[in-house]
Amino acid sequence: MTDRRLMMVHAHPDDESIVTGATLAKYAAEGAGVTLVTCTLGEEGEVIPDDLAHLASDREDTLGEHRIGELDKACLALGVRDHRFLGGPGRYRDSGMMGAPTNEHPRAFWGADVEEAATLLAQVIREVRPHVLVSYDEHGGYGHPDHVQAHRVARRAFLRAGERSMPGTPWQVRKLYAIAQPVSRIEESIARLREESGSFTPPARVSDIARGTPETAVTTRVDATDHWAAKALAMRAHATQITVEGERFALSNDIAQEIDAVEYFTLLVGPTQRIQHGEYETDLFAGL
Ligand SMILES: [Zn+2]
Repeated sequence: MTDRRLMMVHAHPDDESIVTGATLAKYAAEGAGVTLVTCTLGEEGEVIPDDLAHLASDREDTLGEHRIGELDKACLALGVRDHRFLGGPGRYRDSGMMGAPTNEHPRAFWGADVEEAATLLAQVIREVRPHVLVSYDEHGGYGHPDHVQAHRVARRAFLRAGERSMPGTPWQVRKLYAIAQPVSRIEESIARLREESGSFTPPARVSDIARGTPETAVTTRVDATDHWAAKALAMRAHATQITVEGERFALSNDIAQEIDAVEYFTLLVGPTQRIQHGEYETDLFAGL
C-alpha cells in the first residue's frame, strides 16, 4: 500500500504523545497521511510546574488556551501536520475525573450527545479518508470519562462515515484499533523502575500506571524505537502535564513511568495478517 492514511482520536492534549507518540512519529516520517483529532482542550488538567500554576482551572479556561500551544509544539515534534479539535477548539470541554462536578458542565465531553459528536467526527473521516482509525477501548484506557466517550464516539463514527443515510460520499475505514497497554509490559517496566526511578516515586502495582490490557486482547506491536526522541520531545512540550527526566516521566501523581517507543494496540474491526500464537501484527496497515 503506497498511499496510507492514519487517524487517531484522543481525549486530551498530551494523550497522543504519552500513549501513541512514537507510532504517530513513525508513520509521519514514513510519509503516511497522519491526522490527529483531539476531543477537548484538557481544561481540567492538573498543572505541575509552580511557575505555571496560575493557569490551573479557572473561569476563563486559560489552561485550555495554553494547552492548544503545547499540543502545537508536540505535533511539530511528532511530524503531525494535520491536527483538529473535534467540532473546533472548545466545542467540548474536559470533563475532569469520574464523578467530579465538572462532569456536569454544559460543554463537558462526557455529557455530549454521542450521535452528534460521532457525526462531527464522521465528517472529518470523510474528508481525510483514513484507512486506519485508532482510539481507546471501551474502558477508555484508564477510565477517564473523556477517554470512554472518545471510544464511543470513534466507534460510532467508524460506522457513521460509511453509512449512506448521512449526506456526502461514504468512506469505509478498513481497520479500527484501540490503544493497548499490555499488563506484562507494565510489570516488566515496574520491575525496572523499582530499581531506579530517578527523583519520581516508583510504581508499586500495575494500576499505579494503567488499567493494563490482558495479553489475549493485544494484537499489534509497533516498534518505533527510531522515533523515541521525537516522542520524548513531544512529551516535553506538554510541560503543564508531564515532567520528563531522561528516559522517565511522571504525571501530576509523581509516579515514575518509562518513555517507551514500542506501542501496542488491539484490532477491534478489520482484516489482520494470520499471526502465530504469541506473535503480534507489526504494522497498523497490515493486510490492507
Ligand atoms: Zn487524557
